[in-house]
Amino acid sequence: MIYEMPTKIVVGENCIKINSNLLKNMGSKALIVTGANSAKKNGSYDDVALALKHENIPYVLFDEVEENPSLETIEKARDIAITESVDFVIGIGGGSPMDAAKGIAVLIKNPQLVGDTLICDKVLDGVPVVAVPTTAGTGSEVTPFAIFTDHKKQTKLNYGHRVFPKIAFLDAKYMSDMPLTLTRHTALDAFSHLAESYLNTKSNTLSEIYVRAGVELFGKCIGSLRDGNISIKDRENLLLASTYAGIAIAQTATTLPHAMGYALTYFGGVSHGMANALLYREFFGAFEDKTRINELVGWLELDSESQLMDIVDELLGECVATFSDDILKEQSAIVFANKAKLAGHPEKITEEKIFEIYRKSVR
Ligand code: NAP
Ligand code: FE
Repeated sequence: MIYEMPTKIVVGENCIKINSNLLKNMGSKALIVTGANSAKKNGSYDDVALALKHENIPYVLFDEVEENPSLETIEKARDIAITESVDFVIGIGGGSPMDAAKGIAVLIKNPQLVGDTLICDKVLDGVPVVAVPTTAGTGSEVTPFAIFTDHKKQTKLNYGHRVFPKIAFLDAKYMSDMPLTLTRHTALDAFSHLAESYLNTKSNTLSEIYVRAGVELFGKCIGSLRDGNISIKDRENLLLASTYAGIAIAQTATTLPHAMGYALTYFGGVSHGMANALLYREFFGAFEDKTRINELVGWLELDSESQLMDIVDELLGECVATFSDDILKEQSAIVFANKAKLAGHPEKITEEKIFEIYRKSVR
């Protein structure tokens, strides 16, 4: 067994301000990477900017990261970083800006690469990355993964390098005003990480400790996620659940629903959390051995798999995107050819079964 978690995790209200000295070891000039709006609205950008000013570290801002960031965006940010002689990157936001920060960090360190060649055969290092999550879902603040939209290949892909953020600052106050649908969909992403880490051939003693703790925290928040009254304590629990889930998938990776969900996002514009969760009833349903699914259900203090699936469907809401059989057949073949992902799935699976899961999950 190998367990790897090199990220320093700093937790609590105002943790960036209180621990700004940690930024001193990261480098001499920062690129702050965010989406267009949320980081400025929820206070996370101001907190990081003030902490950098306090430590006399200059910075530049790149605030153009779109949802499901493209390789073109990463390359554009890298060009700015090089011109500005930046030597570390701070990703603030949901998974999109945090993943973007990792991709930019690899491009800065490997200037021979362009966006299109970021995803290559080698496993490369990056300059230091600091992550500030403002959604409770992806766990990207503690994973080495980064997912990019490759428009030429018409899909989303993990970039294949292994850049763990050096520091993750977890402050749930940034999520206080998050809309309910985004809260639910990102929470379902965290739950899907926990489940895919546990229902995984690479699941191990240490990843399982985090899965169980994360599932129990998620379970405590189910009532609030359903009724929409989400307290700051719920926000803290969801953020920790998401980070625990990230620690777990950093060891095991995700499995079928993530591999299948990328196409639903690319071709249907479905949010990442929704794309995975849409597939869950059929994904769970395909398991012959229910032992581990029943354990997950028990840790959530629910009675049955079907009760869990009804809750997942309720939190998902309606999916308006539609997918043709042709697209789903093509994507089933692509997922089935992804041997690395399939290796994590603990039971036998066929291309036909993958298509059936798609077909029964989406119209
Ligand atoms: P996201 O794409 O980062 O952001 C979704 C939306 O939420 C954006 O419009 C964003 O606005 C907004 N937002 C962010 N924080 C907010 C807040 N506190 N309050 C209100 N709105 C807020 O969403 P995500 O689900 O967190 O990340 C999804 C991406 O992460 C996908 O590309 C997925 O593939 C990837 N992912 C990565 C990993 C990993 O291990 N690296 C794991 C799972 C998923 P702005 O654009 O204005 O910021
Ligand atoms: Fe995910």
